[in-house]
Parts: sequence; C-alpha cells; structure tokens
Amino acid sequence: AKTQGKNYWKIFSNQVDDGERSNLSLESAMYQGIENNEFMLHYQPIFCTQTGQLRGAEALMRWQIPNQGFIPPIKFIPLAENSGLIKTLGAWALRSACNQAKQWQEAGLKDFYISVNVSPRQFVQEDFLEMINIVLSESGLLPHNLMLEITEGVLMDNPQRSGEILTQLHTAGVKIAIDDFGTGYSSLAYLKKFPLSVLKIDKSFVDDVINSAEDMAIIGTILSLAEGLNLLVVAEGVENDAQLGFLKQEGCNLVQGYLTGKPVHSEDFKEKYLA
Ligand code: C2E
Ligand code: CA
Ligand code: CA
Ligand code: CA
Repeated sequence: AKTQGKNYWKIFSNQVDDGERSNLSLESAMYQGIENNEFMLHYQPIFCTQTGQLRGAEALMRWQIPNQGFIPPIKFIPLAENSGLIKTLGAWALRSACNQAKQWQEAGLKDFYISVNVSPRQFVQEDFLEMINIVLSESGLLPHNLMLEITEGVLMDNPQRSGEILTQLHTAGVKIAIDDFGTGYSSLAYLKKFPLSVLKIDKSFVDDVINSAEDMAIIGTILSLAEGLNLLVVAEGVENDAQLGFLKQEGCNLVQGYLTGKPVHSEDFKEKYLA
C-alpha cells in the first residue's frame, strides 16, 4: 500500500503533464482511501464576536495517505465531485460531524452547532433529505444544531429543485448558510426566495479589510443586508486583531479564523474547548 501511495502522490504531483490519467489514479486512490479510513474531519471553532463565546464549529475534510501527509481538500473535493465519490464522502462527513457534535454537547458544550459543507452534486442528489433525516435520528443531534453550508452556485444552477430541498430542510429545522457569499455569479433575489439563516463572508473580503475602502464597503453592505433580511453573518479567515476589531464594531455576529482557532483534530478540539 505504501508503494502504491507513493505512486499516487507522484502521479498526482505531475498531473499537469497528463491530467486525465492522474485524475483517474487519484480517483482510485480515493476509493482505497475510503476503504482504509484515510479520511478524517478537522474542526474549526466559530465564536460569538461580541462575547467571545464558542458557538459552533465547521467540519473540514482531510485526507491523509499514510507516510505522505495531507492532500488539501481544494485538490480532492473537485475530483470527488466529478467522479460522484462525493456522495460517499459527503454522507460519511455528515454522519461523523453530527455524531461528534452530539458527543460534545453531552460532554458540556451547550447550544453548540456543527456546520458541514455540502457540495452542489450532493445537495441535489435524490436521497439527500432522507440521508439527513437518518443521520439526525441516528446521532440524536437536534436539527437546529446542524448547519449546512452551500454555495450560491447551487441555488443559481437549479433554483427550482434547490428551493424544494431548502424548504424541506427549513421545515425540518436544519439551518442553511451561504458559503463564500458574494464571490460567485448570483443575484440577490434568491436571498428573499429561500429560507436561509447565515451568510458567510469569504476570507478574500476579510484579508485586506483594514487597508481597503472597497472591502470595508463590501463587508459593511453584507452586514446591513443581512440585518435587513434577519440573517446572521459569519466572517471567515480572520487572522488578526485589527480585522476582528473592525468586524466587531460593524456588528458581525460570528467569527472563524486562525486568530481565534485553526481547524484541529477532534481530540485537540476537545482538549481546547471542552475545559
Ligand atoms: P471553505 O468552506 O471556504 O472553508 C474555509 C477554509 O478556509 C478552510 O480551508 C479553512 O481551513 C480555511 N481557513 C479558515 N480560517 C482561516 C484563516 O484565518 N486563514 C487561512 N489562511 N485559512 C483559513 P480547507 O480546510 O483547506 O478547505 C478548503 C475548502 O475545501 C473549503 O472551503 C470547502 O470548500 C472545501 N471542503 C472542505 N471540507 C469539505 C467537505 O467536507 N465537503 C465539501 N463539499 N467541501 C469541503
Ligand atoms: Ca465552508
Ligand atoms: Ca467558506
Ligand atoms: Ca472560502
């Protein structure tokens, strides 16, 4: 398995030379990785900006081939999406994250929510709602403690179907966040059409907000839009005190970033936040 793993890595690193074949190899490596339990979740804390209280965590997928370190999700998620493997991986992530959140709640984290990324293909899959229901009932996690992060693209590509799914999730009590808000092609119309709970401000707007009048204006506008629509806002990629100070002053509800906590293994999360 070690040799194979090395192969994959090599092929993978040289994928520019032969995109088709390397993707196939990575895909079969992923199948094997699922079998071998090489996938795991890391958890990044999300805090209330005003009180500093821990409110939730985002589950972020990690793939570690033995002896080779991590392959970043930005590389394997798109591939999983194209090959359809995302259905298996996504269902696994949802189940693990909900079980973990329930466990932490029982260990003392009250009113803690878990936020899970849902890929476009996964979101429109036929048995998605059924899977969510099963995961919730098996874990015992309350629906309002589960947040699903989807991107604007999903809503734009298939508004009819997305609307139906969102309405059913909303009826069940599950929360929806729009991830990377403002970075895709979209219209604001969907904000009033669909039952949403949270907008996540993309890191790209937060990065230079202290020096950029434009980014300040964009973030300010997102915050007043959210207030008018009764949505909560999470700012992601917060790395320094100046950014945090600005977001706090402008009334951003929640923050997530390296400043307040990096994504960590569940054991580390427990150690850090369940004192
Ligand atoms: P995302 O959903 O926008 O997740 C936030 C990313 O920003 C994460 O990268 C996180 O580690 C990183 N981040 C958070 N705070 C900071 C910060 O202060 N500084 C910096 N430099 N980075 C920060 P990560 O974990 O590499 O994930 C990348 C993307 O992969 C995610 O972006 C998401 O689109 C996707 N992804 C990760 N896990 C899953 C999953 O389980 N399912 C699906 N469908 N996609 C996933
Ligand atoms: Ca996300
Ligand atoms: Ca995001
Ligand atoms: Ca992002």
